[in-house]
Amino acid sequence: MNLPYILDDQGNPVLCLDRAKQRAWSESPASDQFRVGDEHIDGHWISTCLQPFDLEGEDGVESADPIVWETMVFGPGEGMDVVWQDRCGGNRTNAVAMHARAVTEIRRRIKQHDLLSEICAVCEHRLTSHT
Ligand SMILES: [Zn+2]
Repeated sequence: MNLPYILDDQGNPVLCLDRAKQRAWSESPASDQFRVGDEHIDGHWISTCLQPFDLEGEDGVESADPIVWETMVFGPGEGMDVVWQDRCGGNRTNAVAMHARAVTEIRRRIKQHDLLSEICAVCEHRLTSHT
């Protein structure tokens, strides 16, 4: 199993093998820092959060740079398909920067949509479906 992490007071991921401690942290006010960004742009939802496990770690092996932050961009509509994804390690500041890059990229792609067909360059849906 990939190893579980929580954040310290400085927003650095720290290994937490104690399941009760991890649960207590996730239910405490400190865990509010798990969410880095949550924005809606033209129907796309951009969400960046701490993940409870090293996303790219080897089974049971502690990584020097655990990948615990993930940005997901969901397309508009009921399906909410994942149309973009990024991951990083490091502290919360790294994750804030990753989220900002995703926001910039999604804005850029929406602007660069196919002008003739009005197809979104992010999700390939018609822009008219972006409500
Ligand atoms: Zn779109």
